Amino acid sequence: MSQCKTCRAPLTWCETVNGKKMPLDAKPIKAIQVKEGIGEVIDVYLPHWATCPGADKHRKER
Ligand SMILES: [Zn+2]
Repeated sequence: MSQCKTCRAPLTWCETVNGKKMPLDAKPIKAIQVKEGIGEVIDVYLPHWATCPGADKHRKER
């Protein structure tokens, strides 16, 4: 498992549909996916740049 350089949060990684690597918060959160009125509990991961206190730095690195 890797770590954010900025805030040292544990990260996990996935690839986007475009084949790009994306950092995710290591811990998923619970969310409800509703299809046709039926709710199902799913684990979802937040992209780390959405929660990182140093997100501005991530953007500058590009
Ligand atoms: Zn971070």
